[in-house]
Amino acid sequence: MNDTTVQPPVHDPSITRGLDAAHIHPLARLPEEWQELLLTWGEKRFRADQVFSWMHARGVLDSDGMSNLSKPLRERLKQDGLSEPGGVSEVHESSDGTKKLLISLDRGAKVECVLIPMTKVGDADVAGSIDDEEDDEANAEVVAKRRITLCISTQFGCAMGCVFCASGQSGLFRGLGAAEVVYQVIKSRSYLSPHDNLRNLVFMGMGEPLHHYDETARALRLLSHPQGLGMSLRRITVSTVGLVPGIKRLGEDFQGKVGLAVSLHAPDDETRDRIMPMNKKYPIRVLMDALKAYPLPARRRMTIEYILIGSVNDSLQHADRLAKLLRPLRVKLNLIPMNSIDQSELQSPRPEAVLAFRERMAEHGYSCFVRTRRGDDVAAACGQLALRSIQPERLVRR
Ligand code: SAH
Repeated sequence: MNDTTVQPPVHDPSITRGLDAAHIHPLARLPEEWQELLLTWGEKRFRADQVFSWMHARGVLDSDGMSNLSKPLRERLKQDGLSEPGGVSEVHESSDGTKKLLISLDRGAKVECVLIPMTKVGDADVAGSIDDEEDDEANAEVVAKRRITLCISTQFGCAMGCVFCASGQSGLFRGLGAAEVVYQVIKSRSYLSPHDNLRNLVFMGMGEPLHHYDETARALRLLSHPQGLGMSLRRITVSTVGLVPGIKRLGEDFQGKVGLAVSLHAPDDETRDRIMPMNKKYPIRVLMDALKAYPLPARRRMTIEYILIGSVNDSLQHADRLAKLLRPLRVKLNLIPMNSIDQSELQSPRPEAVLAFRERMAEHGYSCFVRTRRGDDVAAACGQLALRSIQPERLVRR
C-alpha cells in the first residue's frame, strides 16, 4: 500500500467527478453504479446489491470472502481493484475509554478515527450528536448497549488555516476520496465490542468536509444506503468552518436531514477574522443567512461550536453578542475550552471564564454543553489530531 510504484486507485476528489462507474473506486460505488458495471461484465443485476452489502453492511473487502458470488466474479472484482484502501497502523486506547485508530492510506496520507463512548449525559453532545430520548423508549435493547460516537476525517491536513487548530496549521496535503472516508467507518466498526452500538457519526476529524463537497456527499450516500451500513442521516453530523456554498448544497441534496455543526468561535467579524481566515470570504452575516436557509426538520437543532480561547473570545461581552447573533436560529451550543497546541500562542481559557460564559448563555436561554476533553492522553482531543502523524519525530518527544 505504501509502495509508491503502485498507481493509486482513481479516487482523487479532483478527478472522480462525472466519471462512469468503472472509474469510481469499488468502495465508493453505489448499488446503481454497480448494476451498470456488472451488466457490462455479463452479470445479473441483483449481484450489485450482494457485492455492495458484502462491503458496506458486512465490512468484507476481500472478494475471496464473498461466498455467494461465483469464482469468476470474485476474480473480476479483484482485477477491478477491490481491496482495502489502507490499513490500521496504530491503535491507542485512552483511560476514558476513547479509542483512536491511526489509519494509513495511499500516497502517505494518515488520518485518525476516534471512537468516543458516551458515558455521561453531557457526553451525548460531545460531538454534536442528537437528542434521542424518543428512540430510546422505542428500543430498549439498543439503550442497554454502550453508545459510541465515531469521529472521522475527510482530508489529510486542512486548507482552512484556523489559527487554534493543529490540522489548520499543517496545511492541506490532500482530500480523501469517498472510499477512504467510508473505509474509516468500516475499519473502526471492527474495533467495536459486542456491547457497543455505533450511534453517531461525526465529520469532525481532520479536514473541512465541505471543501471537497462531492466526496463528502458521496460518502453520506454510501453510509446511509439501506443495502449497506444503513446509518440514518440524522445520526450523522457534518461540521464546517462555514463554507456557505457547501452548506447550501448539503441542505438541498439531503433535505436538511444531515446534522449540521458550525464552527463559529466568535460572534463578530473582527474577532472571527483573527482566528478563522475563511471568515474573510464568508463573513458572519453571509454565514448566518446560509444557516437560516438550511432546511432543518421540525424539532431538530443545528450545533454551534464555540471554542473558548483565553482573552480572545471568552468575555461576557462576547457571550452577550453571541446570544443576540444566534437568536434567529434553532441551535444547541457546544462550548469547547481550547486545547493548547504547540503551533500557537493562543491559550486555553481560565476555568472561571468557561463557567461564567456558560452561565451567561444559560441566562440568555441557550442550552449549552461544555465539551469535555476526551482522549487527551492519546492526543485524540480536538485539534491535536494532525501534526503528530505528519512529523513522526514528535512521537518520540511525547
Ligand atoms: N473543518 C471542520 C471540521 C473539523 S472539526 C470544522 O472546523 O468544523 C474540528 C472541531 O474541533 C472544530 O469545532 C474545531 O474548531 C475544533 N478544534 C480545532 N482545534 C481545536 C483546539 N485546539 N481545541 C479545541 N477544539 C479545537
